[in-house]
Amino acid sequence: MAEWTTAPPDNDQRAPYRVIRTNHMKPLRGVILSQHLVGIMLHYWKGRSKPCEGNECEACQAGQKPRWKGYFQVHNADNQTVYIVEITERVWHEFNEEDRKNGTLRGARIELQRTNRKANGPLAARFLAGRTAESELGKEVAIVPILERMWEITGQVGPAEDAKGTEGEPNHLKMQA
Ligand SMILES: [Zn+2]
Repeated sequence: MAEWTTAPPDNDQRAPYRVIRTNHMKPLRGVILSQHLVGIMLHYWKGRSKPCEGNECEACQAGQKPRWKGYFQVHNADNQTVYIVEITERVWHEFNEEDRKNGTLRGARIELQRTNRKANGPLAARFLAGRTAESELGKEVAIVPILERMWEITGQVGPAEDAKGTEGEPNHLKMQA
């Protein structure tokens, strides 16, 4: 029987934070809430991102090389929104340096941008001077369960509405609006 309700169902399957990649038109600036990066080897396989499964990996067996992606949580000062941001191996070094220098990424101010105007253009990362005090930072959430949920549940994560993916590395994650 059909049921009328006053509110949408409590959909706890949905990731509470959007996972975004850096927009090619606008740099992403914000304060990092995560202590450290988490990373994984990822394929773009059968139309979506899929973590590499090692020895038994279907994508590897088909000859596709996985690529490393790192993730962290950021508070974007421009729109007061918290996101999980995906980065590529290309900028890992900058994050690692910052983490080593301070023992944590939390509170660091980051600027990410594409070095050209392409949606999948190479990423550049720059840490800005000064850190945000702990008392002014929002809470850190555990990113891994959110990502695992995202990858396990088909149909929950579609291609970005505004993405213009190019060959090689389509925009499988939602981009910043
Ligand atoms: Zn694989």
